[in-house]
Amino acid sequence: MTRRVAVAAALVVLTLLVGSRWVTNRSAVLANERVPSSPRPSVAPVVPPPTPSPSTSPSKQVAAPKPKPKRPGSGPFGSLKLTGRKQVALTFDDGPHAVWTPQVLDRLKAAKVKATFCVVGSQVKKHPELVRRIVREGHTLCNHSWNHELDLGTKKPAQIKANLEATNREIRKAVPNVKIKYFRHPGGKWTANAVKVADELGMQPLDWDVDPRDWEAKDAKLIGSRVIGGARSGSIILMHDGGGDRKATLGACPNVIKNLKSRFGIALLR
Ligand SMILES: [Zn+2]
Repeated sequence: MTRRVAVAAALVVLTLLVGSRWVTNRSAVLANERVPSSPRPSVAPVVPPPTPSPSTSPSKQVAAPKPKPKRPGSGPFGSLKLTGRKQVALTFDDGPHAVWTPQVLDRLKAAKVKATFCVVGSQVKKHPELVRRIVREGHTLCNHSWNHELDLGTKKPAQIKANLEATNREIRKAVPNVKIKYFRHPGGKWTANAVKVADELGMQPLDWDVDPRDWEAKDAKLIGSRVIGGARSGSIILMHDGGGDRKATLGACPNVIKNLKSRFGIALLR
């Protein structure tokens, strides 16, 4: 009898044990079911990063079309922005001009310095003798469009080509077979098409590093301090010998040339 009671008691204990284990297992299963859900919040912060990225990508996409320099120190669309050596280079734009170009040439000659002249086709037509003098005195020529068309680069490639070819033709009427190695877009408003056409015509796009805005400054000292303050090793300096009254540019030349010569040396772009 006691054995039966003991067996019965043992059965009851066993049943209770099995039952509680089932409950334990079940609660473990329930817990396991929550397992995937509980890590979600901790995973969630990892998920957002891809979400913010689409919100930042529009600004990246806006920035993307901006021309990226092809090499260190290059300007838009891989144009030449620095000389690539210690010496700086002087460039004079928008001529040739009957009054100012001869005086700029005189200053350069006196200082025994060479420069690059970015000439405008319609001005070349008026003053072929000045283009001859520029070349005769050892300076470099650069095509600066036919009539300083600021929107040239937005035109069809065939139109850009016709403009640059007309300018080169006019230059070569003055100096047959002269090398025209560079093209500078009016206002530096480079476009991929303008650069492509220049490349096709064998001209390297010529940008600049220092712009003293001499075309609007009436003060020689201001122009001088802007050039001297902005110049660094390898700078390509933009100034003007045409397009308006260049008295202030001319006045700035002696100091600018003296300073740059002693600090870096002045090299000719070839
Ligand atoms: Zn210009």
